[in-house]
Amino acid sequence: MSARIIDGKALSDSVRAEVAERVKALAAQGIQPGLAVVLVGEDPASQVYVRNKAAACEKAGLHSRVIRMGEDTTEAELLDVVRQLNEDSAIHGILVQLPLPGHMNTAKVIETIAAHKDVDGFHISNAGLLMTGKPLFRPCTPYGVMRMLESEGVPLRGAEAVIVGASNIVGKPMAMLLLAAGATVTLCNSKTRDLGAQTRRADVLVVATGRPGIVTGDMIKPGAVVIDVGINRLPDGRLVGDVDFESARQVAGAITPVPGGVGPMTIAMLLVNTIEAAERSAAGAALQ
Ligand code: NDP
Repeated sequence: MSARIIDGKALSDSVRAEVAERVKALAAQGIQPGLAVVLVGEDPASQVYVRNKAAACEKAGLHSRVIRMGEDTTEAELLDVVRQLNEDSAIHGILVQLPLPGHMNTAKVIETIAAHKDVDGFHISNAGLLMTGKPLFRPCTPYGVMRMLESEGVPLRGAEAVIVGASNIVGKPMAMLLLAAGATVTLCNSKTRDLGAQTRRADVLVVATGRPGIVTGDMIKPGAVVIDVGINRLPDGRLVGDVDFESARQVAGAITPVPGGVGPMTIAMLLVNTIEAAERSAAGAALQ
């Protein structure tokens, strides 16, 4: 048996096309959705992510503003920029690219973003809203995973969902979204005893650890849907996920590739969150 490959690139194209339609509808009301991306420092991976996000915005008809700040920017300077963006009516979504330089308090910076413009969904208010089942913004990567599962018609109600990795930006919000969809959720971390015993129970397995090859075929239940969030650059330059793709595809029912799986969906969902923010802002303005 060989797993069906879930094509994140194709699905992200259709999500972007939907966004472009919604952009047109807003344009008819004289509104252009705007995303501000703040990049502090010279981290090469961050530079690529920011460039890709800005390009995706332009392609879908959203206005994007990239604000580049030097490595030696003070926290106070960054907070000032964020506060100005909070007040800027042309900007509906604000994203501060992580990681920030070590001298900054990341939580403080994220909490300075107005919650209704926090399109990454990392603000503590948005984390709380998600946890209580009333999300304002769903963090882009888990949101993209949910969209993939939905488009694949994967039944989630009553399903065993196992997530490997429990970060605030991927694993934990992923758990909340799967729980809200009616799955029975197990969230694993680096202290989990016998990881394979957990993963082998999964009808839906989501892996987000940053450890290449941590999940191998023998750790997967036959027919399971495997979502590989990991993006790892090997010393030989190859880009791989956290799942050992070759062994996993022999066992899984469906699997996402790396690259071309979750990555493109993450960017597409950022556009979705930005358009949602702009639509809410337009609806709010119409009520006034
Ligand atoms: P973090 O480093 O913040 O978190 C990693 C998580 O994995 C932690 O909860 C950690 O456990 C857990 N973990 C580490 N080792 C093991 C292990 N041996 N067994 C079980 N769990 C383990 O990573 P992120 O969540 O930010 O990112 C994870 C991966 O996803 C990375 O490869 C990243 O590049 C990728 N990523 C991809 C995105 C995309 O768009 N496709 C977007 C965001 C991230 P503990 O809590 O105990 O430390």
